[in-house]
Amino acid sequence: MHASTQSSATPGPATPMMAQYHALKAQASDCLLFYRMGDFFELFFDDARTAAQVLDIALTSRGDGVPMCGVPAHSAEGYLARLIKAGCRVAIAEQTETPEQAKKRGGSKALVARDIVRFVTAGTLTEEALLEPRRANVLAAVCEVRGTIGLAAVDISTGRMELEECGPDRIGAALARLGASELVCPEGWDEAPLDAIGRPTRDFSSDSGEVRLRGVHGVATLDGFGQFSRAMLGAAGGLIAYLDHVGRGNLPLLLPPVVRDGAAHLAMDEATRASLEVLESSSGGRRGSLIDAVDRCVTGAGARQLAEDLSAPLTDIAAIEARLALVQWLHDDPLLRDDLRAVLRALPDVGRALGRVVAGRGSPRDLGQLRDGLSEARRLRDHLLRRADRPALLDELLPLLGGHGALVDLYARALVPAPPTERSQGGFIAEGYDHALDALRATAGNARRAIAALEAKYRDETGVAALKIRHNGVLGYFIEVPAKHADRLMAPDSGFTHRQTMAGAVRFNALALHEEASRIGEAGGHSLAAEEAHFEELVAAAVSQAEAIARTAAALARVDVAAGQAERAAESGWCRPELLEDPCLEITGGRHPVVEAALGAKGERFVANDCRLSQADRLWLVGGPNMGGKSTFLRQNALIVLLAQAGGFVPAEAAKLGLVDRLFSRVGASDNLARGRSTFMVEMVETAAILSQAGERSFVILDEVGRGTSTYDGLALAWAVAEAVHSNNRSRCLFATHYHELARLADTCEALSLHHVRAREWKGDLVLLHEVAEGPADRSYGLAVAKLAGVPAPVVARAKTVLEKLEKGRAETGGLAAGLGDLPLFAAALDAAEEKVDRLREKLEGLDIDSLSPREALDLLYELKRDAAT
Ligand code: ADP
Repeated sequence: MHASTQSSATPGPATPMMAQYHALKAQASDCLLFYRMGDFFELFFDDARTAAQVLDIALTSRGDGVPMCGVPAHSAEGYLARLIKAGCRVAIAEQTETPEQAKKRGGSKALVARDIVRFVTAGTLTEEALLEPRRANVLAAVCEVRGTIGLAAVDISTGRMELEECGPDRIGAALARLGASELVCPEGWDEAPLDAIGRPTRDFSSDSGEVRLRGVHGVATLDGFGQFSRAMLGAAGGLIAYLDHVGRGNLPLLLPPVVRDGAAHLAMDEATRASLEVLESSSGGRRGSLIDAVDRCVTGAGARQLAEDLSAPLTDIAAIEARLALVQWLHDDPLLRDDLRAVLRALPDVGRALGRVVAGRGSPRDLGQLRDGLSEARRLRDHLLRRADRPALLDELLPLLGGHGALVDLYARALVPAPPTERSQGGFIAEGYDHALDALRATAGNARRAIAALEAKYRDETGVAALKIRHNGVLGYFIEVPAKHADRLMAPDSGFTHRQTMAGAVRFNALALHEEASRIGEAGGHSLAAEEAHFEELVAAAVSQAEAIARTAAALARVDVAAGQAERAAESGWCRPELLEDPCLEITGGRHPVVEAALGAKGERFVANDCRLSQADRLWLVGGPNMGGKSTFLRQNALIVLLAQAGGFVPAEAAKLGLVDRLFSRVGASDNLARGRSTFMVEMVETAAILSQAGERSFVILDEVGRGTSTYDGLALAWAVAEAVHSNNRSRCLFATHYHELARLADTCEALSLHHVRAREWKGDLVLLHEVAEGPADRSYGLAVAKLAGVPAPVVARAKTVLEKLEKGRAETGGLAAGLGDLPLFAAALDAAEEKVDRLREKLEGLDIDSLSPREALDLLYELKRDAAT
């Protein structure tokens, strides 16, 4: 199916080519080896089997039975993208010399030298075709230094690098936030996260990390960048060492590292992110996720920034207000917003173009993108500077949009308006930029015209009107005439020399043609070399200003995020939230953006609901039938908090939010069957995390916790968890449950109140109103929901009979929660038990056994027994 099967070398254990192949493969045992042969990349043995399967291309075999398959080099990117997506890693072995060079070096049989030039892995991509424009692509490294976890993360497509440290228990949450596509850690580390790639432990030493960071940024000390702990430096070292390895010594763009301060962000653990479906829906894709419902950014960089904002909302009111003020400004001025978005929409992805250029994988087109993006950024700045009432954040951003005048001018002079992606053919340097280059091009152009003139002349001289001068890669320029006229040119004194006889035509050369062709060839070669040299200079100009260009790209992204948030708010009447330090949560007319959009698509209306939590009424128990809207209500309030603290408007009429430091969301186990561990176990592990971590400034939503086990266990756990969150954690909390019995908690927990989603039975049918109302749920409507869901009528009728029996039994015995009425208060019960133990211990400790008579000892024993019983 492809040309390389015609290649002369045949792989086999004995051939030099196979020896070369195996040597290269040994350096890339965990990768598929793309072995360059002419115009193809070939894969052999198991690599071929894997690739053929993933790519759905033919698996062939060579004469000696070695399985193989191949992909054309010019379209390799598309194949690479699919392999990377399927979880493969690829090593690219290129020919490092031409066949001519090989012959010169080692004679006619010499094998072309090859070497691995790069490893392509999920976390180290820069190519436009391999990356999703709206998603950051993160490579992370994690290690432990004396009990502290260090994390380093970089998106090498834009160079952003971040360092963080945390306790071993927070590693899951930190990794969940990063959402890395590739993770490296020291090999043999016991605590290594699943899927992490092991790398030599020495790469993760903090000393070498510091040396590497200093080296990358060419500084004698890192003090200018911030304070880095040993754990952070270790992780940074491991990260850079890995990049060095996959790039074979070529490092990509790395901006100065930024320390991430955990306290500056709303903490969310992995389970919370998953259950709120922040960046991905539970079915895996972006569709149905929060970001999908919110994102109105018009640039890929904006969408990536928004994802970052939603993954790490802020906890500093001033910073949140600064973002909100910019959103408001753009919200209130639709004309300005439209203009701005139109300009942004046309912008190239400056950050990623820069990433490719610095990584040495840039094309003339990337330079063109830098030119266009930076010059538009400057225009945008000038436009916005003319506005008077600018919010403070914009004033911070505007200066970052300019400052590239010299580079833009240079590129404007040097490059043609639309430079090509391929640089080997030249043609990207503009006329007038380099006179010597213009002269070379003129020479080649003159020679081409001379050749056209020669064609006319030869036709005249020979009288063959069908004579043509043509060109191909093998012969270069030649004269071609139909076979029947060939004799005239074959004559010894004709001035033509025969080159090739084809089926219907004969080809010739002539001295004048040869001379002109040489001029073209020579001038062409020189002009290509000149363009190549200019390309290097132009790249160097961008590299020297990489940091400033990256800052411009980041500022553009921030403006796009704000404009997108404003657009989204205007679209559905969202409001600007008011943020307070006081732990309250007052949402009027709140909506769930994803559910509302889904209903809207079906022409249905979403019922807005209020939520009012305060210190004195901080836990709402929400009952009501299944499908009544409990989960939706819980989540919409959590999402409103998240959106607000990310600095955006929220889907509500009004929202007064006391700043939240940690957000927890848990869903009862049966909704999460896809997980590996026993689902109930997962539920309990996740619940335990809340009980140990949530505090007075946290917001917790618990959806049917306890559902994953038997009724009694479930009720008991739900009871105890609700009590603990209320009295110990004292967090704001929404707790959905179908256990009516929990309503009794309202008697003992002073800051807990009862609510329910309303439903009505109308002519035997259940009507779900999706309205949250005060008071306990009156009944569960389970059978009505079953009927609504299409359970056959006889089955529902039978269930009704069973239910009547059960209810009768409950009335007689006092029901599921019989005996809970005199349950001692949660904390008081524990205290009393502990007190008793303490009293007994005190007595025993104060005892001098040797001084007791047998009679006294016996009396004492009776006394202790009596104490223990009271
Ligand atoms: P529950 O948790 O009580 O079982 P859900 O929150 O999962 O119920 O809601 C079930 C369905 O009801 C949702 O998929 C949605 O279609 C609809 N729904 C929920 N809340 C509302 C609402 N406020 N307005 C309109 N429809 C709603």
